[in-house]
Amino acid sequence: PTDLNALADEYMRLSYHGLRAKDKRFNATLITEFDSDLSPVSVVSQDMGRVLLNLFNNAFYAVLEKTKQAPEGYKPLVSVRTKQTELGVEIRVHDNGCGIPQHLQRKIFQPFFTTKPTGQGTGLGLSLSFDIITKGHGGTLSVETKPSEYTTFIILLPA
Ligand code: ADP
Ligand code: MG
Repeated sequence: PTDLNALADEYMRLSYHGLRAKDKRFNATLITEFDSDLSPVSVVSQDMGRVLLNLFNNAFYAVLEKTKQAPEGYKPLVSVRTKQTELGVEIRVHDNGCGIPQHLQRKIFQPFFTTKPTGQGTGLGLSLSFDIITKGHGGTLSVETKPSEYTTFIILLPA
């Protein structure tokens, strides 16, 4: 059993500081909301770490994209929230970035699908994450998004 709150907190900060060390334009307010009563779930913490790192990298990238469009009064936010539900442990990684256009929403979990410039994305993050969560942990990985408003990835790990 892994402390998923600690893992999520660690990888959010790792992603943020890693990206900011490369490029100061990566900027966001970080918000965490952790349920202190999560049921113990067995995860391969290295694998879960890779999933979280990719979700956070994507989230910070998405708020940077929106920052570049410079909407008036825009404040980039990335949040992570954990919650015990009847179905298991839920982890939500949310950003108020560029969102995902509807016609691309089916494609994002496909290997090698990326909208990032060459050298900045392999397009493997979400397909790998999907396999780690579903095949590796018997969970689900889903997305809720509104173009140019927000994106939320939801991991559900069965108790
Ligand atoms: P990569 O990050 O290398 O592009 P991923 O598999 O992690 O590959 O993501 C695939 C694509 O899904 C991204 O290129 C982007 O178009 C879209 N995407 C993923 N996460 C987000 C997000 N939080 N906001 C907006 N688009 C996203
Ligand atoms: Mg990625």
